[in-house]
Amino acid sequence: GCPGRLLELKGNIRVLCRLRPGTPSNLVSLEPGPGGTVTTCYRGHQRRFRLDWVFPPHASQEEVFRELESAVLSCLGGYSVCIFTYGQTGTGKTYSMEGPPEDPGIAPRALQSLFREMGTGGQHHVTLSMVEIYNEAVRDLLAPGPPQRLAVRQGPAGEGGIQVAGLTHWDVPNLESLHQMLNLGRSNRATAATAMNQHSSRSHALVTLTLRTASPSSGPGTAGTRRLSPAGGFAAPETGPPSTPGSLAPAGTLHLVDLAGSERAWKAGAAGTSHEDRDGAQRLREARTINRSLLALGGVMAALRARRPHVPFRDSQLTRLLQPALGPGATAVLLLQVSTRPEDLGETVCSLKFAERVG
Ligand code: ADP
Ligand code: MG
Repeated sequence: GCPGRLLELKGNIRVLCRLRPGTPSNLVSLEPGPGGTVTTCYRGHQRRFRLDWVFPPHASQEEVFRELESAVLSCLGGYSVCIFTYGQTGTGKTYSMEGPPEDPGIAPRALQSLFREMGTGGQHHVTLSMVEIYNEAVRDLLAPGPPQRLAVRQGPAGEGGIQVAGLTHWDVPNLESLHQMLNLGRSNRATAATAMNQHSSRSHALVTLTLRTASPSSGPGTAGTRRLSPAGGFAAPETGPPSTPGSLAPAGTLHLVDLAGSERAWKAGAAGTSHEDRDGAQRLREARTINRSLLALGGVMAALRARRPHVPFRDSQLTRLLQPALGPGATAVLLLQVSTRPEDLGETVCSLKFAERVG
């Protein structure tokens, strides 16, 4: 591995693609590695998509994380980093982000790597929050008691951020407590998943770590230190540590986002689209809402990439929440998960087109 190579790639947004293991299909072929390609043959049309990195179906969790580690660790330097898993339901988004306990994914590896890098000196302050967005409703997964719906507001003028009223931020003294809290958040999400059919494939899960490092030498204006705009309300704890101006480096943030399934509305609602079928109608509504958030994410990333003056952050709750994290100086990594199954080909092409638009 060569740490840092990912950060040297073009722009602020990198798109990596991971193919789900399964029956190989001659309709999807790839050239793996940096600048790799995925070629699809769909309805007689051949299309070739180039990505910043392509992982073959047999790539290990470790190989995937290796390409992300330098980006993850950059948040220790006050940078903002967002890692998304995007794709059709069943293609391995959660597998990549969380992984099974015996083969951990990006989130546990990232946290371990961060805590290892921070050491035990005690000069770091880490807070955690965790929310879920379902049908454009934002819920706190780490609130004491049942998950609460939260209001998302625009922050004070000039700060460019948003505020999530009442969002719980936990201080994280060590890796063990971090894992305990993440498990709590996951179980809160799982409770909702059993109450509502396939809830988790229709909701976005956001884990946010905010890191502040006490380092007197890295105050404002220090030569060689690239400063970020202050983290907005989403990441900055309302009841954080008393911040001593000049003694804390700018907060770095790491957002780990397991996105809702990207499959299109017609598919999600295909089981029942008549007005009598309330369940079908509900599913169709969910699918549309999900697509709006994902569409908004695509719109935001495309605008950032093209350096357009207007970035449509307000188009969805997802992009509003992530606005502070997607600003100048931030790194976003989209891990596109795709299937090679012939019956999924339409969705695979849609996902690759999304990547082409933003990457
Ligand atoms: P998603 O979150 O995109 O809906 P999941 O992560 O739940 O998809 O994956 C669907 C299934 O495929 C799970 O059983 C998961 O364990 C398995 N799976 C996905 N990717 C891999 C992989 N790279 N290696 C082994 N199993 C995988
Ligand atoms: Mg999932």
